[in-house]
Amino acid sequence: AIMLSLRIAPFGERKKQRLMVARDITKIYHLNMIRRDFVANASHELRTPLTVIAGFIENLLDAPNTPAAHRRPLTLMRNQTERMRSIIEDLLTLSRLEMGDGLDAQEAVDVADELHLILQEAQALSQGQHRFTTQIEDDLLLWGCPAELRSAFSNLIFNAVKHTPPGTQIEITWGRSTEGIELSVSDTGPGIAPEHLPRLTERFYRVDRARSRESGGTGLGLAIVKHVINRHEGRLMITSKLGQGSRFACLFPGHRARLRDAQHASAAP
Ligand code: ADP
Repeated sequence: AIMLSLRIAPFGERKKQRLMVARDITKIYHLNMIRRDFVANASHELRTPLTVIAGFIENLLDAPNTPAAHRRPLTLMRNQTERMRSIIEDLLTLSRLEMGDGLDAQEAVDVADELHLILQEAQALSQGQHRFTTQIEDDLLLWGCPAELRSAFSNLIFNAVKHTPPGTQIEITWGRSTEGIELSVSDTGPGIAPEHLPRLTERFYRVDRARSRESGGTGLGLAIVKHVINRHEGRLMITSKLGQGSRFACLFPGHRARLRDAQHASAAP
């Protein structure tokens, strides 16, 4: 089979004609598939040995006859294996999202409910260092995959905690907008320089590698967010100003909205 990418654009003096450009992307498509499968297989194969290593580290930490001098290096090893585990899990999540043809198990997701749960975890992560405000439309539900949406929204909210200093204000909104329905996470943190914005959703792209690693991130969060939003026919919009803060908005089309009261009546897509 041949894969073609088609683009049709206005053309000619008064833009009355149409120009169609067809590009053969068969090779690119196949290379991309090979890359995707390779990452998925490699991540999967790394899981088992890592679990074994982590198990032995736990055993040594639990054993009463482990010399005291070994406890610190063992604890460091445990932290690093835990880090590796989150990277592998995120890589597997990303491959699943890339491979998945459609969304399975869609339902009317109670976004307000999810946000309140995520907020509790975010507050624990923040240890009271951030101030949270919310503007949430309680009766507005979103047709989609609950697990995927949960991971996307929590990534955005945890990012606002992880990448901003104490005292930062974080606002979460969920409701209807002129374009459809929108979830946004805004912070009054350090912001992101404009040159970084277009690359932010690339895998492993981080503005400040050292600092982001310290915060426990894998660099895959925003790539996951973007995939999840796209799979829900939505768009991720990032705006930011250095020294003022950042705003991450997920825009979904209006036809994915459901109302709490009419939930059963409109359960069909
Ligand atoms: P990470 O695991 O490092 O959080 P992400 O893909 O989620 O990876 O984010 C990529 C990078 O974008 C982060 O490393 C950080 O530099 C930047 N970033 C994300 N959210 C924010 C934010 N709210 N404020 C400032 N920088 C952010």
